[in-house]
Amino acid sequence: MIMDTEHYKKTQYYKDLAEEVIEEHEELHWLWNVRIDYVTSTKSKTSQGMAVYGECIKVKEWMQVYMPYDFVIMIYEINTHQLPREIHKRLLHHELLHIGVSEKDGEYIYKTNHHDVQDFRAIIEEYGLDWING
Ligand SMILES: [Zn+2]
Repeated sequence: MIMDTEHYKKTQYYKDLAEEVIEEHEELHWLWNVRIDYVTSTKSKTSQGMAVYGECIKVKEWMQVYMPYDFVIMIYEINTHQLPREIHKRLLHHELLHIGVSEKDGEYIYKTNHHDVQDFRAIIEEYGLDWING
């Protein structure tokens, strides 16, 4: 059952792009086993005065009673709609790199990765520091 709300909608567009990104990067292929869903928000969001383009949210175990996903990637359309498709893909690549896993007592648990510096090294190496502006 899909239940869009006034401000939040499931998005096939970003899901398809993210799957392209995963396909194109072998180091991301393990994500095929992670349950990720993609949602757009029409609410605006800023952090420290800067526009937030997207965020990667780990779904807590108890929440999975209601939503069968490990992570949700939220895209803030107010800040992204004017950007080209290729930049959307970079943004998704960035958000996908936030998905991490760690091993504890022989059990794998998902975690949210933090940026290497102010960004992920892999993103800067592939697209440059100013990747969001092309
Ligand atoms: Zn980030």
